[in-house]
Amino acid sequence: MHPDLERVIHLQQIEDATERARRTIADEPARQQQLAAALAAARQALDDERGRLAANQAARRDIEKELAMQQGRLSKFRDQLMEVKTNREYQAMQKEIETAQHEIQKQEDRLLERMLEFDEVTRQVKQAEQAFTRDQAAIEAERETLASRLLEASAAIGRLAAERAELAARISPPVLALFERVLKYRKTAAVTPVRAGRCSTCQILLRPQTVNELRRNEILYQCESCQRILYYEEVPPSTDPAPRPTE
Ligand SMILES: [Zn+2]
Repeated sequence: MHPDLERVIHLQQIEDATERARRTIADEPARQQQLAAALAAARQALDDERGRLAANQAARRDIEKELAMQQGRLSKFRDQLMEVKTNREYQAMQKEIETAQHEIQKQEDRLLERMLEFDEVTRQVKQAEQAFTRDQAAIEAERETLASRLLEASAAIGRLAAERAELAARISPPVLALFERVLKYRKTAAVTPVRAGRCSTCQILLRPQTVNELRRNEILYQCESCQRILYYEEVPPSTDPAPRPTE
């Protein structure tokens, strides 16, 4: 292979790795925000369930208060029943007693309903607590992964810059200048492989004669369409993968 071609291929790999490291660093704040939002959502879900439980308990207390009040009225009416003088008074008192009894029954039904709901909501709070613990641990693990990836990326930037400088010094100046020019113009890659007779980046079909000339990778050739430096990449013949032995 042409030594400069081999070096610019390598230089492109360094560029790609540098770009990946830069992107990791650039994406970090957004990723942190996503994780914070996910944690907040998990906490909110738990708070919502706990809120339902608190509401249930408050409602039960209200019903119990109402029930005690009605029971007080009922016993007061029963006492008064002993002291009535006329039949009309007796009937009126009976009516009050019935109303109070009816009200007590109603409150007892409501209380029972709330007690059933309490069991259900308690179960859901437990589930929400487990889900929150699980989510929190996953988010924490993700944060640690993110932090170590960030450290790696920061270290890689420095290391790759040194590698790039060392490699660039060994490339003949006109070839390096060409690489830099195409890279600046194309932004993504200055070097790209030929695959299936095409420039693998801009996809233009190359003349068979050109492909043949490129096959040995002994010349520096720019794609006529996108100007990138082309090299020939041997593609392994596509055979149907043999079925993997099951273990
Ligand atoms: Zn091209």
